[in-house]
Amino acid sequence: MTATRLLIVGPQGSGKGTQGVLVAEAFGVPVVSTGDIFRANIKDGTELGRKVTAILDAGDLVPDEVTSEIVRDRLSQDDAAAGFLLDGYPRNTVQVDHLDAFLGARGEGLDAVVLLDVPRRESIARIAKRAAEQGRSDDTEEAISNRLDIYESETAPIIDVYGARGIVDRIDGVGTLDEITERIFAALEARGLVRVAA
Ligand code: AMP
Repeated sequence: MTATRLLIVGPQGSGKGTQGVLVAEAFGVPVVSTGDIFRANIKDGTELGRKVTAILDAGDLVPDEVTSEIVRDRLSQDDAAAGFLLDGYPRNTVQVDHLDAFLGARGEGLDAVVLLDVPRRESIARIAKRAAEQGRSDDTEEAISNRLDIYESETAPIIDVYGARGIVDRIDGVGTLDEITERIFAALEARGLVRVAA
């Protein structure tokens, strides 16, 4: 069986969480979302959760070594052997190096990086809507603007790194949910990646 190893990237409010779940399901791989892992630890009151609460609330990044260790553990689990979809990691070039080292040691690499392209104004509008609906503690105005700034200064540069490897699919992230999902499917299938579900 061929494994499918994906990363979905986009600014906060680009819909990457929602699309990531749909794409992972279609390609038969688990979603590995660092944001979800941190939030679950906060909710469960674990030691890690206590360590990262203030960082998430401010919209800052958890230290790279802590985050990379969590991802290495998660990707070492059996269900990730046949592939995975990373959401929210790597988020800067240091984390790209960590992931490269980990996957490289296993003779693996990412097959595709889905970049959801959404203008900043649209992202802010979508996050504001989610804040009203879900009440995430890091969806305050200050934390949102901090997260978007970090995206532009730290995360956007990883697109160039992966772009140089020829694995980035830039997807127009404006449209209906279904339209955007179809665009992603088309791009991944054009790379020869095979869906297991409709
Ligand atoms: P997300 O759900 O991806 O928007 O992540 C929510 C928060 O979790 C971020 O604002 C960061 O505080 C933290 N976080 C998630 N992924 C990472 C990462 N790769 N590196 C550092 N911090 C992260």
